[in-house]
Amino acid sequence: MHNLLHNLNDEQLAAVTLPAQSALILAGAGSGKTRVLTTRIAWLIQTGQVSPSGILAVTFTNKAAKEMLTRLSAMLPINTRGMWIGTFHGLCNRLLRTHHRDAALPQTFQILDTQDQLSAIKRLLKAHNVDDEKFPPKDVMYFINGAKDSGLRAHDIEPYNADERKKVELYQLYDEQCQREGVVDFAELLLRTYELLSRNQPLREHYQQRFQHILVDEFQDTNDLQYKWLKLMAGQGGHNGGVLFAVGDDDQSIYAFRGANVGNMSAFEREFNVRNLIKLEQNYRSHGHILDAANVLIANNSKRLGKNLRTDAGHGEQVRVYEANSDLSEASWIIEETRNLIHDGASRSEIAVLYRSNAQSRVIEHALFSAGIPYHVYGGLRYFQRAEVKHAIAYLQLMDNPHNDSAFLRVVNFPARGIGVRSIETLQAAADQYGISLYAAVPYVTGKAGTALSGFVKLIEGTRFETQQMSLPELVRVVLEQSTLLAHYATEKEGADRIENLEQMVSAATQFLSEEGYGQGAPAHLGPQAQASAGAAVVNQDGLEIIDADAPLSTVMSPLSAFLSHASLEAGDNQATIGQEAVQMMTVHSAKGLEFNNVFITGLEEGLFPHESSSREHDGVEEERRLMYVAITRARQRLYLSFAQTRMLHGQTRYNMKSRFFDELPEDALKWLTPKVQPSWFGAKKSAWDEAPLVGSDRALAQQIANKSSGSGWRIGESVAHAKFGEGVIVNIEGSGNNARAQINFGSSGMKVLDLSIAKLDRL
Ligand code: ATP
Ligand code: MG
Repeated sequence: MHNLLHNLNDEQLAAVTLPAQSALILAGAGSGKTRVLTTRIAWLIQTGQVSPSGILAVTFTNKAAKEMLTRLSAMLPINTRGMWIGTFHGLCNRLLRTHHRDAALPQTFQILDTQDQLSAIKRLLKAHNVDDEKFPPKDVMYFINGAKDSGLRAHDIEPYNADERKKVELYQLYDEQCQREGVVDFAELLLRTYELLSRNQPLREHYQQRFQHILVDEFQDTNDLQYKWLKLMAGQGGHNGGVLFAVGDDDQSIYAFRGANVGNMSAFEREFNVRNLIKLEQNYRSHGHILDAANVLIANNSKRLGKNLRTDAGHGEQVRVYEANSDLSEASWIIEETRNLIHDGASRSEIAVLYRSNAQSRVIEHALFSAGIPYHVYGGLRYFQRAEVKHAIAYLQLMDNPHNDSAFLRVVNFPARGIGVRSIETLQAAADQYGISLYAAVPYVTGKAGTALSGFVKLIEGTRFETQQMSLPELVRVVLEQSTLLAHYATEKEGADRIENLEQMVSAATQFLSEEGYGQGAPAHLGPQAQASAGAAVVNQDGLEIIDADAPLSTVMSPLSAFLSHASLEAGDNQATIGQEAVQMMTVHSAKGLEFNNVFITGLEEGLFPHESSSREHDGVEEERRLMYVAITRARQRLYLSFAQTRMLHGQTRYNMKSRFFDELPEDALKWLTPKVQPSWFGAKKSAWDEAPLVGSDRALAQQIANKSSGSGWRIGESVAHAKFGEGVIVNIEGSGNNARAQINFGSSGMKVLDLSIAKLDRL
């Protein structure tokens, strides 16, 4: 036991060994929260306070769950399988599979990832002749997900105007469509489980009694429904008393846009009567200057629970700051510094380049590529999100549940088999008329369309029959062949990569079976009952039989169903998987919980980071600041910050001021590699691009800028004064003569676009 505990400091030790009461570990980045949570699980088991099956631990990503299990297996000489460790989605998936009848779902229900959900909504809008300009599918999706994340069904919402009434109506129709097709989206996984456990008392009590210890990592990012779910599981307010062990950092709450509610932390303290509030203030990750930067920056936020971080690691190197002429020169600088780091012995996988938005990665990627430095970009399309992989998955989904209309539509005519839009419309009409799935409606379509559609049905049924006794990898292989996907891509010029991706699915299936404890030869289609192993059924005191949704998965899902859930859930994870010997590129959001020796935070410009959307939202800048705090605290030894005067983004050249965050960082911690310019917006630096040495495309860009000023009498970079908005700097000019308009940054009055022939501007 002492082995488990001897690597902890006093506060960590106190947290790990707390009595079985609700506790909140509130602590900054790198203070060992995740380590404490993992060690507590091991300690509880080792001291005999709980058996592995009494543990429920919630992590933020599937990868974090896997890592935790691996660490626990290393710490404990016992079988860890009985423990439930996973994401909210993963855990709910397991519960719903086991209790699918009570939850009114087919056992083979399938999970829609965000991309699938959006296409399901587009289909719905079309079927009901809804104007998608007035009700953009994405808005409808956000509305539905927002409602679900708050635990609301359509009938729970009181619409306050006609538009909202329409959205509520669409929400209702969407739920009906999903139910008909046997599919659930991510938010539904949670809501459905929540509703199931709320109304089914024996089931609820069964799980409440089973899970004596519930532990949650990254608690600050739980949304309202997740918190309610935890309360229900813990039996809060009920006779079980409810014990929840939560670790989190209010300063790292970065998912408000997805409904996360940092207020859950104080609600938890109050509602669970938390007497054990432990703060960890020793940071084990970052050198002093980096930590100072993080501490001083986050002190600018007003709503904080209050805590600080210190380190014994010494000051280390200062944070290096670089001002670039353009995004291109920013990229060149990153390459130069990366080369230096590698030259000094740094491993490439210990160099991370972070950015606020995915669109920023292209220029840096290009530069790394040209310099011959291996890199890996995360947050782009993940394996299970790629088009060809989604096509193959759709065929597999039809093997398992042919009534999944999304899957049906995706591949009914892919590869092309002469089933056109008109045929689908006829089919859709028949399906609507009888209230059945597209697949079931095929016999109602006659003529040529009917023949082609029946051909497709025969293909699906035939493949299903042929693969009856096959293992999952064999099934995947046959589906790739029979669907003619492989043959199709073989005829495409750029198809080789896609074929490789498709073939990888066979290995993915093999790997999946061994990780989840299925036998490699287990028939892919075989129902779980046939495989149910010992101890799955429990009879509770009311004489009600409850099948416990216990690990391994094989007791509740066929290998095929399990593999399909895995594909959808993994497609929804937005966390990087590190480990490759390459420079790691990712958004700040995906870097959560990770650490690297060397970190670049790029594009630190107003409008980019803090992102322009933040000025519109309540608390927006504070959330951006927390995001910056997350970014800074990923670094162990070296941190680099950069910004560019001009940047091409989404096809437009932008002229941004440097990020306000620079003014919020402690001077002593920073080392400016380029002269620091006052005031904090470089627009005032008249014409920086005239002075700095220009190369290649920078020069072309400067020329472009110079040309832009012609005709209007004004030029970019010029300082002006306006009676109402005060002093400002021209950051862009469009049009010429009487049509010339200038984009002017008026500092605290914001960015304005003024008509130069009308606006009264004075030169400064
Ligand atoms: P984040 O807020 O970023 O999720 P965290 O609080 O979860 O961070 P961990 O990832 O658990 O922090 O720990 C940060 C680093 O410090 C890890 O490398 C961990 O192994 C190390 N660490 C934690 N506690 C100790 C300790 N007592 N002694 C030595 N190293 C430690
Ligand atoms: Mg952590």
